[in-house]
Amino acid sequence: MTESNPTPTATTEPKIRVRGLKKSFGDNEVLKGIDVEIQSGEVVCVIGPSGSGKSTFLRCLNRLEDITGGSVVVDNFDVSDKKIDIDRVRQHIGMVFQHFNLFPHMTAIENVMLGPVQTKRATKEEARATAVRLLDQVGLAEKADAKPASLSGGQKQRVAIARALAMNPDIMLFDEATSALDPEMVGEVLQVLRDLAKGGMTMVVVTHEMGFAREVADRVIFMADGYVVEEGTPEQIFGSPREARTQDFLNKVL
Ligand code: ADP
Ligand code: MG
Repeated sequence: MTESNPTPTATTEPKIRVRGLKKSFGDNEVLKGIDVEIQSGEVVCVIGPSGSGKSTFLRCLNRLEDITGGSVVVDNFDVSDKKIDIDRVRQHIGMVFQHFNLFPHMTAIENVMLGPVQTKRATKEEARATAVRLLDQVGLAEKADAKPASLSGGQKQRVAIARALAMNPDIMLFDEATSALDPEMVGEVLQVLRDLAKGGMTMVVVTHEMGFAREVADRVIFMADGYVVEEGTPEQIFGSPREARTQDFLNKVL
């Protein structure tokens, strides 16, 4: 645990505890009472039809969306409490989206260095050393000085992952990180996620990659219509889903 962690984690507490989470946009109730607990080091894949609230759920975990009801507690820190310093919580939660949003005028390594330098968590030299290590970790050591425009989609997404890791998060959230990629680039990005999972990172992964979920997830959550319809091990969810909604979804995507 790093010294800047906002609160110590009691070993018995889940890393993330979501209770009765509701989220509405105007009259549209998108999350209708979500209860989820995620343990430290766990890899949880979230699957479900488009529009079921998967992205909204993920965004509530670091309060990119204001929570309408219920609670989200991360490392004993009540994210739903308006009074907390949310930026300090967010610094421990890395997020990777479908679209990489790299700064186009900056090189790969400059993109990775930016967060730690801007937040004064590291000197430029320290940030550079970390960025070199992280670019190597995602297989892009030789692309450090390349601008995003000269990188493939898979490479850009790997830079985006390195950029998130540069803040030394202990939770990583992925929202369809491979959905915008050409098929031949999906594998290289999933390999980075696989390595992270092996390294013990706590991960919540919204994905359409059922093969990945089956192989890497400790637990799979199936969402539909703003509810967690079913959760279980990959063997259970993919092998013998209990709920008709889950079976129906899997029949369509597998
Ligand atoms: P998923 O990621 O499962 O496809 P989302 O969480 O993106 O689902 O969206 C769930 C629902 O919430 C959709 O009906 C979507 O239109 C709505 N929604 C998401 N974000 C917003 C927003 N910022 N404003 C209004 N409605 C939103
Ligand atoms: Mg989504």
